[in-house]
Amino acid sequence: MSKTFQLTILGSNAAMPAFGRMTSCQSINYNDNYFLIDAGEGAQIRMTEYKVKRNRLRCIYISHLHGDHVFGLPGILTSYNHYNRSTPLHLFGPTGIKAYIEAMLAAGQTTLRFELIITEMDHTTPQVIWKSHELTVTAFPLKHRIATYGYRFDEQLSQYNIIPQKIKEHRLSISEIKEIKSGNNVRQGDAELQYLDLVYPRDKPRSYAYCSDTVYDESIVPTIKDVTALYHETTYTSEFAKEAEERYHTTGMQAAKIAQLANAGLLITGHYSSRYRRGDEPYLEAKSYFAETLKGYDGMIHNL
Ligand SMILES: [Zn+2]
Repeated sequence: MSKTFQLTILGSNAAMPAFGRMTSCQSINYNDNYFLIDAGEGAQIRMTEYKVKRNRLRCIYISHLHGDHVFGLPGILTSYNHYNRSTPLHLFGPTGIKAYIEAMLAAGQTTLRFELIITEMDHTTPQVIWKSHELTVTAFPLKHRIATYGYRFDEQLSQYNIIPQKIKEHRLSISEIKEIKSGNNVRQGDAELQYLDLVYPRDKPRSYAYCSDTVYDESIVPTIKDVTALYHETTYTSEFAKEAEERYHTTGMQAAKIAQLANAGLLITGHYSSRYRRGDEPYLEAKSYFAETLKGYDGMIHNL
């Protein structure tokens, strides 16, 4: 059975909380390890509401330093002093995030009683920034008014399980078994043994990509190629395409185009402008161009 790989959207509005929507924040639960993407205002309230296990939070990934993506961060961090957190927490974000956190802590003369490991990023090409035996996280630049990163989460599957009879049948050595389990073919004399003929089938690795905030930008397509689910901001509908471009945001149609080019299995919309009471318009526009589209909303839980 595959491990839990669950996305929870904790905030789906742009700029400020409105109509019951908080600003950007999402949680990923992979096999009971939690990861937060962005931490807009209200993130902490939503974490409690949607049962994000704070003490199992491993990393926080911040896209950029606009308030609607970071105003929830001070509360999340300082609350850990009341929860007696002792395990380290990783925080990733563009350069400037360290000064932001330090200024907030200094102003309140607050000392965090756990280790906060801050990684500031300024790379201009996609880079793997975090890796465990279960997940690999890649950060890639987006085009917004200030330095912004998107994130891709790739599941790392464990080794293949070899079919026992095949070991006897082909008199496989220990080193050959090792190769096959890792997904490599092996040579025996003139014959090449195909690993896929010797192992039990397994599920395809699942993946998730988060792209917010960004203007329409096809250069991200190779990095998010074939992703299982893509969250792409849909701040506006095409009616406001000019505003979208000026403010470095995306329309529903444009997000659908990116999903199509990337061959995404699913598109999830969000980061709705407060001009939309229900957020339906950008979602419906995206869905009209890309059928596999789901409307993102606060409290949405999606199993990848
Ligand atoms: Zn934003």
